Amino acid sequence: MSFGWGGQILRLDLSNRKTSAVSTESYTRLFIGGRGINVKMLYDEVGPEVSMFDPANKVFFGPGVLAGTPAVSSSRLMVTGLGAGGFLRYAGLGAGIPKEIKCAGYDAIVAEGKADKPVYVFINNDSVEFKDASHTWGKDVYETQQLIRDELGKSVEVMCIGPGGENAVAFGSIHSDWGSVAGRGGMGGVMGSKNLKAIAVRGTRGVKLAKPEEFLQIAEEQRKDYASREETIESMRLWGDRWLSWCLQEGGLGARGNFEAYDGPLGWDTMRITKMDDFAEKYGAGWHVCGSCAIHHFMMYDVPGIGKGGAKCTGTTNVTSTLWNNDWKLGFQVYNLANKYGLDIMSITNIIAFLMELYDKEIITTADTDGIPILRGDANAIIQTIHKIGKQEGFGQLFKDGVVQGAKKIGKDAEKYAMANKELELEPYEYRAIKPFALASATNTKDLTGALNERVYNWAASGDKATRDAEEELALKIYGTKEAALPHSYDGAAISTVVDEGRTCACDMIGVCKWVIPWDMSEYYDIQSKLFSFATGVEMSDEDIVFAAQRVVTLERAFNIRRGLTRADDTLPDRFFEEPVPGGPYKGEKLSKTKFAKMIDDYYNLRGYDKNGTPTEETFIKYALKPEWEVFKKETSQKIGNLSVREKLT
Ligand code: SF4
Repeated sequence: MSFGWGGQILRLDLSNRKTSAVSTESYTRLFIGGRGINVKMLYDEVGPEVSMFDPANKVFFGPGVLAGTPAVSSSRLMVTGLGAGGFLRYAGLGAGIPKEIKCAGYDAIVAEGKADKPVYVFINNDSVEFKDASHTWGKDVYETQQLIRDELGKSVEVMCIGPGGENAVAFGSIHSDWGSVAGRGGMGGVMGSKNLKAIAVRGTRGVKLAKPEEFLQIAEEQRKDYASREETIESMRLWGDRWLSWCLQEGGLGARGNFEAYDGPLGWDTMRITKMDDFAEKYGAGWHVCGSCAIHHFMMYDVPGIGKGGAKCTGTTNVTSTLWNNDWKLGFQVYNLANKYGLDIMSITNIIAFLMELYDKEIITTADTDGIPILRGDANAIIQTIHKIGKQEGFGQLFKDGVVQGAKKIGKDAEKYAMANKELELEPYEYRAIKPFALASATNTKDLTGALNERVYNWAASGDKATRDAEEELALKIYGTKEAALPHSYDGAAISTVVDEGRTCACDMIGVCKWVIPWDMSEYYDIQSKLFSFATGVEMSDEDIVFAAQRVVTLERAFNIRRGLTRADDTLPDRFFEEPVPGGPYKGEKLSKTKFAKMIDDYYNLRGYDKNGTPTEETFIKYALKPEWEVFKKETSQKIGNLSVREKLT
């Protein structure tokens, strides 16, 4: 009997409309669950000859081990596949569907092949049906969920794509409920390329716990403890909703436009949190929550003439500062429209900011944009560009594969204004100012959030000495050096990135929300390992789980090296090395090429990579990845996956 895990991996063969289930057992010892099992299957099953929208690409949906249990904030799911830029991408999703998948008995779902016409899949415990999705094709993500629920009943949970994903846009996202989104990396586009509109799940089996009494006791204590931390919960709610943007700008952590300006005096001062509070008061429609979450992370709004939906986290900066927009109502409209199309909010706003800069510099004119002047902050320009990209009409077609490929098509030196890393559009952080952010963003498989150093975040966002001292002490405890809390220091960045990669990935494997666990609650890692052990009956300490997570990070890296990733890809746009921060508390800062290279060297050393960023044989062996090493050695010795091969594939 399998405790903790569902026990099976469900395969959806879309080409032949067949399903099969295999045991999870062979994956769990080394790869645990969620993001871990996902990458092991991806590594074994998707070779370097496959491209993003090739039917041979696969999408792996992995709820974490604790999904379906009463552990706090455990209804989380990781989606992994070959995505934007031709590299492994992963993104997280919450709401109720991770729990349903686990309670249907599955630790992962694999979507493979390509259906001959649009389908959605209905999983009802053991019963799996391919259903006609033609009536949902072209519908937005909210309409789609409603149509499927109308057919199957309110108790099913649905994750789906919008028109952006249907059109195989490389930053198409996957949506569940009113605002839970697997946004980054384009897995929604891969779903669309397979004619897979949605997966609907009803799971009623529950999760069997190895030591239920011990588990429930700790889970209850944890829940009570969370409930008692009113101040933390309140600030997390506001961070998730409005404070994040405020702190980004107040602390000088955020950028305006296409990383062209400091936001404080230009825009944020005119908007301020008070205006967002007024908006929330007027249009707030409750809090979105993932199953079993104690926090209720972000607010739902219902605005006449715009509609209902969520807006959260860094995305609130994207729809305001990135777009030179000081009107939060327009910001919400932009967020909601991008969500409806199923387009990643980071990528779409990054592309619009890029176009605004090109238009301002007269590199493009209305002749290039279907007659639309792409003026900074202009509502019509923003809304029309989203429609064009979502529908893949007119100049929107230039950006089907993201900002870098769009810039190449435009020519005229436009590429130098494409703010991306490995062809994934950057989040709107001020990388020149915050050196650990620069390293994490340059090296991570996903983006900055794959290794977000919250100590430096809080240090920079806070002006008071007591908070900064406390953050330095925490950095000393977690990373072994106070330097890791200092924005301007290159020296603590490598260790904080490596530690945070492991801890973030651990959350993504056991299936707890990384926004809850590390946030002011570092001691909670120990509780997670206890919950994991009581759920599964497999004794693992905090260190054991993090070690397994570092194995997973290494394998993700190896997958990308097989696809041609080199040291040259672990960088950021030239702008950050050449143009200083134009204002704010970090005015004048830019990245030093020499110090950045040293930071990369330090990071590679700590990770067990060689000078080119390739995991060494010793590193594979250290993480018990001998079979994976054999595949790696064979392919790389045949020079499959070198840069020229990758360019041919993407
Ligand atoms: S904090 Fe937000 S993202 Fe995390 S589990 Fe709770 S509702 Fe979901």
